[in-house]
Amino acid sequence: MSRQIRKRAAPEPTTGCGPLIPPLAETSRSLRQQVFERVRAAGLTARVQVARDLGVSPASVTTIVSELIEAGLVEEVATRRGGESGRGRPVVALGVRGAAHRVVGLKISDRDLSAVVMDFAGRLLAEHHEERRPVALAPASLLAVLETLLDRVTAKAGLARQELAAVGIGLPGYVDSTGGRVLWSSILAERDVPLGRLATERLGLPVQVDNDANLCAMAELWFGAGRRLSDFVVVTIEHGLGMGMVTNHRIFRGARGIGMELGHTKVQLDGALCRCGQRGCLEAYVADYALAREATTALNWTHRESQSMAILLESLHDHAKAGNQAARSIFRRAGRYLAVGLANIVNLVDPPLIILAGARLRFDYLYAEDTLAEMNALVLATGRPLPEIEIHAWGEMLWAHGAAALALSALGERLVAPVRDVAAQ
Ligand SMILES: [Zn+2]
Repeated sequence: MSRQIRKRAAPEPTTGCGPLIPPLAETSRSLRQQVFERVRAAGLTARVQVARDLGVSPASVTTIVSELIEAGLVEEVATRRGGESGRGRPVVALGVRGAAHRVVGLKISDRDLSAVVMDFAGRLLAEHHEERRPVALAPASLLAVLETLLDRVTAKAGLARQELAAVGIGLPGYVDSTGGRVLWSSILAERDVPLGRLATERLGLPVQVDNDANLCAMAELWFGAGRRLSDFVVVTIEHGLGMGMVTNHRIFRGARGIGMELGHTKVQLDGALCRCGQRGCLEAYVADYALAREATTALNWTHRESQSMAILLESLHDHAKAGNQAARSIFRRAGRYLAVGLANIVNLVDPPLIILAGARLRFDYLYAEDTLAEMNALVLATGRPLPEIEIHAWGEMLWAHGAAALALSALGERLVAPVRDVAAQ
């Protein structure tokens, strides 16, 4: 029998029953983290409100807030008590001290580079976008691209690199975020690249790396519709097809770190060839390179790597709108495959909301009534309402916002969760 399959006749004898959960300190958020996260999420709030929200004594919140203020992470802001006149006596509210730190979010995709600088409170200080040629890079070349991008957006914010505290980087492909390794990406000419470590060395800053679809979910979770939702799914349609999943207000990347690869779930045995090297992946039917491949065949167009994919797709869309049957059938087929993917998500995960995100969502075929009807027909008939579907055509900067949120999240963890806090609870 192979190592992968292990056969057990009966449970191993053990004492006790129920899940063997590690000690509390390893699994739960410390009170210090919870206080900081409440203040960050609220924008401005009062100590008494934080205590109420967390169900702890005001005294314990006051102690922790004093520490956070002393550490320069939280500040007191004079504000006017609300009320009809808005002229009540001044009160002191708590907020994250934006000036404490700055982070950068970088996103590299096949054809775009985007970047943002944010302060510690998540306020946007600068953004930058440029196009790139779609070529797979050697790791050294990618590092040079990232460094240039970082320097450009940092200069726009009027900052020096030494004034930054953390960097988040997003790129398409299989990314082990915990270990900072890129196992495969269309951006990289090599497999299994320790990009997190290499970029940390090159930039001289702590770097977090993640899959671009997770960044999209992160952007929704930190700045978008997902802020108020504990569970939702984001499906991204760009050069590839990605998925990000949020459960209990946190990104779920799969138990071993690189799950949620919706684009590479198989929808056809021995089907169309995918960029990953396998056949029949959903992405190979829905992503823009799939549409371009069909357009070049059905409409007898030529498409060179140097040609803008956006222009080709716009042209295909125009033809479909003008009634060209071949162009219409290309979109219709992509929409049907997308419906299969969405229905599979619903049947597996049962989310309350699916957000479709990406610049391609201008192409309304993707969420046409036909597509939704097809999805509904493939979802298990339970008699309950279907999940809501929202379209977010945020544009290219969405991803970089998610990358900055990744950096802010990691920075917050590092600064706010010292081990000594465990004893203070
Ligand atoms: Zn694939």
